[in-house]
Parts: sequence; structure tokens; C-alpha cells
Amino acid sequence: MPKPLSLAFDPSGSPDSYRVEETLFAELVIPVPIDKLFTYRVPGAMNKQVKVGQRAIVQFGAKKIQTGIILRLHHQPPVEYEAKYLLELLDENEIIVDQQVRLFRWLAGYYLCTLGEVVNAALPSGLKLSSESMVQLDPRFDLETTAFDFSEKERMVLQRLKQESLGYSAIVNLVGTKVIYHLLKSLVSKESIIIFEQVKEKYKPKTERRIRLINEFTSKKKLEALFETISKKPKQEAVLLKYLQKVPVFSEPALNDKGISKSKLVDEEISDAVVRTLVKNGILEEFEITVPRFGFIDTQQEHPILLSEQQEQVRNSILRIFEEKNTALLHGVTGSGKTEIYIDLIKRALEGGSQVLYLLPEIALTTQIVLRLKKIFGSALGVYHSKFSDNERVEVWNGVLTGKFKFVVGVRSSIFLPFDNLGLIIVDEEHDPSYKQHEPAPRYHARDVALVMAQSQNAKVILGSATPSVESFYQASTGKYGLVTLTDRFGTATLPEISFADMALEKKRKTNKGEFSSLLLDQIKQATDRKEQVILFQNRRGYAPMVQCEDCGWVPKCINCAVSLTYHQFRHAMVCHYCGYREELPKQCPECSSKRILTLGYGTEKLEEELRLHFPEIKTQRMDLDTTRTKSGYEDIITGFESGETDVLVGTQMVTKGLDFDKVSLVGVFDADRLMHFPDFRSYERAFQLITQVSGRAGRREKQGKVVIQTSNPKHVIFSFVLQNKVTDFLKEQLADRQQHFYPPFARLIEITFKHSDKKVVHEASEKYTLNLKSKLKQAKILGPGEPMISKIRNEFLMHVLLKIPRNQGRLGDIKSLILNASVQLQQEKQFRSVKVVFDVDPV
Ligand SMILES: [Zn+2]
Ligand SMILES: [Zn+2]
Repeated sequence: MPKPLSLAFDPSGSPDSYRVEETLFAELVIPVPIDKLFTYRVPGAMNKQVKVGQRAIVQFGAKKIQTGIILRLHHQPPVEYEAKYLLELLDENEIIVDQQVRLFRWLAGYYLCTLGEVVNAALPSGLKLSSESMVQLDPRFDLETTAFDFSEKERMVLQRLKQESLGYSAIVNLVGTKVIYHLLKSLVSKESIIIFEQVKEKYKPKTERRIRLINEFTSKKKLEALFETISKKPKQEAVLLKYLQKVPVFSEPALNDKGISKSKLVDEEISDAVVRTLVKNGILEEFEITVPRFGFIDTQQEHPILLSEQQEQVRNSILRIFEEKNTALLHGVTGSGKTEIYIDLIKRALEGGSQVLYLLPEIALTTQIVLRLKKIFGSALGVYHSKFSDNERVEVWNGVLTGKFKFVVGVRSSIFLPFDNLGLIIVDEEHDPSYKQHEPAPRYHARDVALVMAQSQNAKVILGSATPSVESFYQASTGKYGLVTLTDRFGTATLPEISFADMALEKKRKTNKGEFSSLLLDQIKQATDRKEQVILFQNRRGYAPMVQCEDCGWVPKCINCAVSLTYHQFRHAMVCHYCGYREELPKQCPECSSKRILTLGYGTEKLEEELRLHFPEIKTQRMDLDTTRTKSGYEDIITGFESGETDVLVGTQMVTKGLDFDKVSLVGVFDADRLMHFPDFRSYERAFQLITQVSGRAGRREKQGKVVIQTSNPKHVIFSFVLQNKVTDFLKEQLADRQQHFYPPFARLIEITFKHSDKKVVHEASEKYTLNLKSKLKQAKILGPGEPMISKIRNEFLMHVLLKIPRNQGRLGDIKSLILNASVQLQQEKQFRSVKVVFDVDPV
């Protein structure tokens, strides 16, 4: 049962009842985008319990209830306003640590957002309590038999609570007054309701129903007698036999204590009812245990990791680097066995008593690796990612605090966990853009934050990748990071053989079939004939990215955004990929009534459909945003492919990432031209990474894999680097290019986006802002304002300004203050007050 909120303090009581010098004030950060801390008065009764790092419930604004975190305690009352009282402390101990507070402040300063926004992103929602704290009827309460008297309003609330639990704001609406605190207090004192934090309600330990044999039957003699008595009851006999098969109590009676999970006992042949009968007859017993959500492995097995000679050399080089430097860039070709090296170093760090964080860019990658790591690290390992429920996230958070989880594997948001003793951080696939948070603030880059965390906690960092980012490569080339290169694939495996399908030529000669070149079709046939698997990569989801009237050229556009709609056959609808708006595919053109409606271009859906036409007998599966929305989406697809149920996996960039499949012998890359011609200074880098990474999925162990790249320009300079796997040469060329055009790592970028529903207003606002900034900020190049490629999203018009700031010129902090002040000045003007100004520092 949820713990009642203790309403020990009466906020109407006079503050004068405490002597002024004894009054404590608490400064709280509240998860709202306002750039300040809020001061509250600590009720005298809480003086002994209150601590920095605890959560407290406070009234925020006129009617909202919020959870804040106490960051400071002191005796100075605020000057500008009368401090309200803290209403309740939620924790006995601190839930955040010093190191985090420092990191959160750094994040807010560096990424130009508020501390409240950082805290909002950092805390799992299971740790945030807001106006939606819940009230429920006390189950022991009965309005008919109660001895207390209730007011009309109280009765009204109780009546409604009979049907459902209510949030604070729902009760405010119900009784029609903002002051409900006294009403609730009165109801609590009359033992009729329970107020609970949604937190405590939401956070439930996970339990499991288990079954075991009543202990007296564990002796061989008794067991034989038992079988005698139920010999005429085959169903009961079957249950017992299955139990004994799973739990061999005759050979090891102690095993009976743990029993077996009920769900493992009951199956198609064994019904729940028979099990219940046996429980009723005193033969089996049912009991419940609390199970941790992670790392629960009955018997921890030691899997010795044997490093190859080359791996051992690499491990030693990394250790040597760590004697002088904090960061090592591990450039290892795909399939070179970086994971084994990581495991070895993780073990060392854990044995040294420090914490380890292992960052991965996307959950697609965690499934395979987590299973492996769990076998080795057992219950010391926590897993953290955004598709987990709040319960699970709170459990990992608390586990890091209490020391239960010394090692966490997770996606970018893991940098927010309460680490205070990190020894090693691994950023695997460090080049991956998913490390960057885009929306909402803080728009942080987890790799860069990891480097900052490591510095403040004196930890070491390994950045690993087969295709290092230009930025990290630059740091390694200047000697700031140590560089280690792993050039050979693990064992006897070799890099795949790459060939190009010239689509322009194939189309001219009409040898292609739909979107497939004859070369690729032929290779798919050969591979699937040999029962080998195939991955096809097209970085576009949906069926067709554009619909058009063949007669008048009309193109359906989103009503909220300046983009054309993507046709999704599977949903029978045209969908906007920016806001989710959808409409049906028109039967005729709304402009000219023509019935000739074309679909142009192709996404993963269309590829899968064409593939099935060419190879009706093979099994295909699609992996993109549409098929992986659920928590188990990825896992099901990956498991299906791993087990060989699926022959061909068609997908977007998700298939390019670190997945290891033994039976994949062929990779097909579609529309390679489009990858390179994206108007962004990183487009070559991204194209190179994607093509190299996806190619790396082909061929493992003894067999060399094949890659077919479909392009209309096989002579493109990028392909010559891809073809010979000349990663370093490619990076050097990119660096020269970046230097020439003054882009990162030679310049720092800050992108400023202005948003407003009125196009004229947003244009004027961005002009005004830019003029103002240009007059003050001489150290930076200011480009714009200009319309971005997509100039309207969700009914807001956008304008962009890009700042290019030379490194080592002036203090970055000063420049950032100028940028922030200019936006404050802009918003002081009445007509621009509602213009949103969004800062993206180091945009990706
Ligand atoms: Zn038309
Ligand atoms: Zn839209």
C-alpha cells in the first residue's frame, strides 16, 4: 500500500512561531525552463531531516505542485518575495550527488539552457512528482459506517474517489477552489483518503510467483509414496514429473527451496488449475519473491575472455596511453573484436573499485551486447535506456546510488545517472549522431559530456569506432588523445569485397528490375540459394517519399509543415515525418481531377515489396522506425534474423549499427548518391560512415562477404576510400576540407533557430537579433538569418542563424553571454515576446 503523505506541517501557521535565526531556507531547482533557483522556507519540523540532494514537494505558482531538488540550505530569506514553505520531503537520503550537480550546471552553461531543463531531462519521470500527485480512497474507509462528519465538498471528493484516484489538479477542478490543501489534510485526518506520490505508486518492485514441492516430499522415500498416491491422476503426475525434471530435488534437495517460476511450469499441457489442485492438496506450495529487474542470473558463470595476440597488444597500448592521457581513440575495423578488449578493461576498472559506464548509441545495439555482458558481469550490471519503463529506470538510478550497479550499459541519457566514482567510460561507435540530443533542451552530445565527466571524476575514456568522427580523429592527430588502431578482423576473417552497380548504365540498358540492379538481384539469389543471409540498406522509410499528379505536377504537402508527404502503403496513408499528420492517398488529383497519381522514389517498404516479387519464397523483415516502435520491436526482429527465421533484413540506418550476424554474406546499399548529396558539411562524413559500417556487416569468421553499392556515379571520390577501406586517408582529406571552409573541429558552431506562427514576425525577429548580435560580437562569423531547408514545422515558421566561432579566441563564456543577452533583449520587445529562440551548441 502506498505510504500516506504525512501532512505534519500546517502552512497556515505563523512563520513567527520560529525564531528568525533558526529558520532554514532551501534553494531548489525545479524542472521548468526558468533560469533560476527558487527559495523556500523549511518548516521547523523538517530541520533535522532536510538535506542537500533530497527531493521536496513545493507549491509552484498559484496552483501547481512540483518536485524540486534541494541544492543549497542557508539562513538568508529571499529579498524579492516572501518564501513559501516546503510541503514535504520525499526522500530520506539524497537522490543526486555532488558530481551530478556540478555536471548539470556545466550542461546548462555550455548548452545554453536552464538548470531546470537539465534536471527535467536527467530525472526519470518516476522521480518527478508534479501537480499530478495522486489521491485515493483509503481502502479501509467506508462512508456509511464512519464516525466522522464530512463537509459537502469533502463528500463530493470522496464520491468521486470511489470511482478513481484523482490528481491534485483534478481535485482543484472538482471543488472549484485552488486551496485544497486543507481539504485534503482534513480528509487524511478523518482516515478517509491516502495521498501518495505517483512515484511510490508507479515504482513497484517486480515480483515473481514461484512453485516448490512441500519440503517433506523431498526425500526419495516420500516422493515414491507420493507418486503411488497420484498414480491414477495423470495430469497431476505430469505436473510433478515436469517439476522434478526442472528441479532435480532427489539429487540435490537444496534446489527445492528456490523452486521454479510458475510461468515456467504452466504450459499448453499443464494447466494452472492442476497446479492449484496440487497446492490445495498440500503437495506443492506457491510463494512469491522479489526479483531485481536486471542482472538476475542464478549462477554466475565465469567466462574467461581470451584475447588474441593482436587484441592483447591493443589492450596494452591503451593501458600505456592511460598512463599519460585521459582519452584513447580506438580505431578498429568492423569485426575486429573491440568488445573483448572493452570487457578486459572493464574488469580491471571494476576490480580497482571504480564505476564503469559503457555508452552505446542506440538500443538496437544493446540487445546483443547486454546478453553477453550479463553472462560475465552478472548482477553488477545495470542497463539504462529510454524504452525502459519508469520503474526500471528508477531501479537503475537507485542501484547506482546504493552501489548495487557498479557498471552501467546505456544510451546517451545514462550520462545523467548518479555516478561519483567513475574509473572508465567507453563510448562505443563514438561517431554515431544518435549521441546528440535534438529535442528538447539540453541539446547535449553524450560523447562530449562523457569527456567532461571523466575529467571531473578522474576517469579514463575509450572512444571506439571503425569510422572515427572527424572531430575525434583531429584530437588524436594533435596528440590530445592517444590513438590505437586495430586493422585486422578477428580470427581469419577478411574485409568484404565491394562492387558497384552503375544504376545509370543499368537503366539505360534496361537491365534493372524496379529499384534492383541485375548485379544485386543475381547476388541475392546466389546468397539465399546457399542459405546465407542478406542485409539491404535504404536510408528512407515508408513506401514512397513523394506523391505526384502525372498531369499537372501537383504534390500533396503537409498542412502543418513545409514538406511533401511520404506514402506508407502499409498504413494506406500519406504521412508527414515531421509532425505525424496523415491523410488518405487521393483517388484523383484535387487540382485537375486526373486519376494518374504517381508515387516517386522509394523507401524500405517499397524495397521489401519488390524483393518479395522477385523472390516469393524467401522470408523478409523490415527494420525501421515504423517496425521498432515497441520495446520488443528491435529485439524480435534481431532474434528472428539471428535464428535464421528471416533470410533478408531490409532497413534504414538501424541496420548499419554494430550488429553481428554470422550468416550474413551479402550487403546491398541503395541510393548511395542521396546519402552524399545532403546539403550539410558533414554529408560526406556521414555517407562514408554509413556505407563503411553497413559493409562491415557482411562476412564474418572464415568467409569473405560481399557488398553491392547501387549508385549512378561509381567514380565518386568517396567510393575510392570506401573501396580500399582507407579510413585514415578519408579523415585527413575531410580535415583539410573543414579547415579550408572553417568548420568543426576548426570552428565551434552555434545554431540559433527562431520559431513563430507568423512568418513576418519570425523574419523580422531574426533580422533584428542578428543585427544586434553583429554589432556586439566581433569574434565570430555570423551567417544568416536564412530560411532552413524545411522552413515550417508544426505550423511554426523557422529562421536560422549560424555562428562560427574560432577556437581559442576570447572566452566562450563571454560569447555565450552575448548570445543570451541578445535574445533577452529581443524578447523585451512586445511584438517579439512570443518568438521562440532555440540554441543548439555544436549542432550535428
Ligand atoms: Zn493534377
Ligand atoms: Zn507535418
